[in-house]
Amino acid sequence: MITRREAIKTTALAAAATALAPSVLAQTNTAAPTAAAAPFTLPPLPYATDALEPHIDARTMEIHHGRHHKAYVDGLNKIYTGMFEFALPKGTIDQIAENLRMRIPEISRKGVSLEVQAALQNNAGGHYNHSLFWQTMKKGGGGEPKEELAKAIDASFGNFGNFREAFTKAALSVFGSGWVWLSVNEDVDNRIKLKLSSSTNQDSPIMIRMTDFGRGSGYPVLGLDVWEHAYYLKYQNKRADYITAWWNVVNWDFVTERFQKAKG
Ligand code: MN
Repeated sequence: MITRREAIKTTALAAAATALAPSVLAQTNTAAPTAAAAPFTLPPLPYATDALEPHIDARTMEIHHGRHHKAYVDGLNKIYTGMFEFALPKGTIDQIAENLRMRIPEISRKGVSLEVQAALQNNAGGHYNHSLFWQTMKKGGGGEPKEELAKAIDASFGNFGNFREAFTKAALSVFGSGWVWLSVNEDVDNRIKLKLSSSTNQDSPIMIRMTDFGRGSGYPVLGLDVWEHAYYLKYQNKRADYITAWWNVVNWDFVTERFQKAKG
């Protein structure tokens, strides 16, 4: 969880990094690749590729997981092994993604080219976002969350219907490729609050681009991929139909667990 104190610190770091941007641009040095083993692997789907039928078809799942997600893992491995000298720690993608939020300004100051920074952000985000996405769905999902999460949704959005409507509207409003998120945040009174946001490309609330610190940040508990690769085979340009279908496979048990983890 990001605290307000961290957020303030981060904003200051981001401002410092932005100020240094011209000198970074002028440099062409990138980290030399090392012989370190590829640290990231594609996690298996937690269910069969046809488990979410008819809402999300097997072919889409095969390609989305086996090719798109895999490409982010491969891309991350390609650049990440060369980044260790910039003090990026080894760890799980969750640890890396959370860490990047703080480290992008730092690696920027250390002269990593903007191109490599972008590749790091896109591939780390892609790996993190998709790893979460698979887990937030299940066969026979849907319905509404219960107990603690239901209360938190009511507190932040009025009721579940309002939340669902706002989330759907945000998902329809993403222009181009991106995601919609439900994230845990702290408000000004340090009270836990659920927040709705959207992001472009593979940006994630946990690892938003350095120019956007303070906006759309948080610990994501639910995310919807609205890249066309997530639905085009079955739904073509009908994103609304994909979103309606997706609500039937949301794994609220998992989302609730993640919410509790975020609070703790
Ligand atoms: Mn995707």
